[in-house]
Amino acid sequence: MEARPVLWIVIPCYNEEQVLPLTAPMFLSKLEQLTGAGKISRNSRVLFVNDGSTDRTWEIIRQLAEEHEQVLGICQSRNRGHQNAVLAGLMEAKDHCDITISIDCDGQDDLNAMDEMVDRYLEGAEVVYGVRSERKTDTWFKRNTALFFYRLMKFMGAEIVFNHADYRLISARVLKHFADFEEVNIFLRGMVPMVGFPSATVTYERAARLAGKSHYPLRKMINLAFNGITSLSVKPITLITGAGVGFSMLGLVLMIWAIIRACQGSTVAGWTSTVCIICLLGGIQLISLGVLGQYIGKTYLETKRRPRYIISARTWETEGRRWIEEADAEPDAAKTQKEQHSRIWKS
Ligand code: UDP
Ligand code: MG
Repeated sequence: MEARPVLWIVIPCYNEEQVLPLTAPMFLSKLEQLTGAGKISRNSRVLFVNDGSTDRTWEIIRQLAEEHEQVLGICQSRNRGHQNAVLAGLMEAKDHCDITISIDCDGQDDLNAMDEMVDRYLEGAEVVYGVRSERKTDTWFKRNTALFFYRLMKFMGAEIVFNHADYRLISARVLKHFADFEEVNIFLRGMVPMVGFPSATVTYERAARLAGKSHYPLRKMINLAFNGITSLSVKPITLITGAGVGFSMLGLVLMIWAIIRACQGSTVAGWTSTVCIICLLGGIQLISLGVLGQYIGKTYLETKRRPRYIISARTWETEGRRWIEEADAEPDAAKTQKEQHSRIWKS
């Protein structure tokens, strides 16, 4: 018998009751197909991470886990955002598998790219990035804002793979080293390349969301880009220093000019220019302070060393509790225990 890698597909889900019933069978059949093709082990699994959904997502995941041996689920104690959900899943998976593939649960990323990802892994790559070949299905606005953010981030010193989101294969070996990156502000697509190891890319076409709606409006995209930049690089600080030097020199020239004009005796009623300069400098100062504040804020958060995720339940554990059904216990007491169980899950 040939040895084959164990794959865990990690899928973050936040309020996805509409799309999960559509995509879960797709993930399962992909797993089946990869197993059938002899690329991965029969012990491979699909791991859904419920990111504190307020709808029926966790119930659906638990149901799937009951029906299919290959489905596992973990539940976060509250919503912590996409990046933390993926991290929770990857950290959970790394001790049970050889490779992980993280993918969104909305069916936008082409599952068929997984074949090639596994091939690249078998050829020696430890990280395989899924790269979108085009963004036809996104709106013009989304496509161009995304392009703008990629360019901006690159310019600001955050090295990321162009047109790559969080669809990627990472080996457990890389994840074990990745676990040593203990920062609280995480931006996975910028952090994974930092671990190193041989990597490869696989291109695929991105489709439209199968159901439900995007959780990444413009506000969240700006947040993600800003978080990416300030988590990965200190280039904005350098730029601010540069701008500060530039404006100070300009100010010096203006001062000399003003003194010369004053010596010439031409009294200028130039409050307009004064106001303009004050406004301009005031604006720049405020932006600079804001950016510095962001870094200080991040440092503050990092010093707290708060947990990046908290898993409140796993489908393969008895609801996180060690309550044992006692055969010889009083029937009434056993009943109350059961009732309590179901009450916990309903609440
Ligand atoms: N997601 C999550 N937590 C959140 C927001 C989103 O786990 O707080 C998941 C979501 O369920 C999906 C993935 O992250 O699987 C990507 O989200 P979405 O499809 O809304 O983003 P888009 O593809 O529009 O950028
Ligand atoms: Mg999506």
